[in-house]
Amino acid sequence: MIQDIQAKVLLSSAKQPDPWFGIKYTMNLYRGCQHQCIYCDSRSECYQIENFADILVKVNASDLLRKELARKRKKGTIGTGSMNDPYMPLEAKLNLTGRALKVIAEFRFPVHVITKSALVLRDVEVLREIGREYAAVSFTVTTADDELGKKLEPGASLVSERFKAMQALASNGILTGITMMPILPFIEDNEENITQIVTRAHECGAAYIIPALGMTLRDRQRAYYYDQLDRLFPGLRHKYEERFGDRYSCSAPNAAKLDLVFRNLCSRYGIATRMPTYAPQAGTQMRLL
Ligand code: SF4
Repeated sequence: MIQDIQAKVLLSSAKQPDPWFGIKYTMNLYRGCQHQCIYCDSRSECYQIENFADILVKVNASDLLRKELARKRKKGTIGTGSMNDPYMPLEAKLNLTGRALKVIAEFRFPVHVITKSALVLRDVEVLREIGREYAAVSFTVTTADDELGKKLEPGASLVSERFKAMQALASNGILTGITMMPILPFIEDNEENITQIVTRAHECGAAYIIPALGMTLRDRQRAYYYDQLDRLFPGLRHKYEERFGDRYSCSAPNAAKLDLVFRNLCSRYGIATRMPTYAPQAGTQMRLL
């Protein structure tokens, strides 16, 4: 089901920018996500999304964003892509993200986009414009294998397409890198996968890779994930239950070894393992519109 809604508020503010991505304002243009990754944390009860396959479209998003940015006195990175993908297939038709980026460019706010879609390339020009202030695009990549990616992230672009999109952004001078998370225990936590992701990222101009060598699991998210394991990887659920029980944080059993492999490769290729976040230039003043 796809339904239009009128949102009352668009941006939620954090007191301090988060330490990973430097995000001060979070922007969600949709609720629910068509990518339907089997491990998605947005299914957790705390987010109160009853049916994650239903997509709510905030049709008044760009008007609301304009009003809210006009009132902001503190410039900070606007982050989008943590609760749903701003470039899910529906975006090709609706252009909610494209329109929001134009408003952000007008107000000269910095932006960070997380996506698993090559559709982001449609907005390369406006991202370049925002990039004069600060624009970063992080592609989430958890496996280098297209076939495995199709099972785990069925609605998203093929991993190979994400890498090509990254290469195009990098060649347009846009800061881009990878959120390598989650790395699913017993499925993706092998040296070969980590090596392939980092090597491909290097070839495609990634400036950074932020890793999480494991995953989180809770309530509805866990129930859905285990159902999908039963369907796609029969027998694996028991390994998870045995190893992790009810734990929220589920590190890959060989995380320490993988971390070493990961850091050695990044250092060889000159890829940062933390993200270069937005830093206001000295003397920058808010433009009052
Ligand atoms: S793209 Fe992100 S938000 Fe969408 S289903 Fe996948 S993990 Fe969830």
